[in-house]
Amino acid sequence: MQQDLLIIFVAVWLGLSVGSFMLFQRGSDVERKRKLWPIYTICSNVVIGAVIVYMQPPLMMMLGLLAFMVPLTWLTIRSTKFCSACGNPSRSPFFMKPPTKCSHCQKPLD
Ligand SMILES: [Zn+2]
Repeated sequence: MQQDLLIIFVAVWLGLSVGSFMLFQRGSDVERKRKLWPIYTICSNVVIGAVIVYMQPPLMMMLGLLAFMVPLTWLTIRSTKFCSACGNPSRSPFFMKPPTKCSHCQKPLD
């Protein structure tokens, strides 16, 4: 039973990874990418949160990790911008300011 759950987590995780590639690396529908990015990021962090709960760490550690994930999710959403010109995502490390120009075509990002 427990092993089944772990397999489900791995399957969901792989699905999210492939989905991310298909949705955000390919195609040029920037509006759709911008709309889906926060939803995708929140979903994948909910999966990570579920894995943490599933691992059953000590309660304080679990609460600490889950509390830490909220700002991390927000910063991940904020630090990724999609270029209006070429549709490619530009990321900066989550603890830094969001990128100001496209890493692919060097056009300024808004
Ligand atoms: Zn670009």
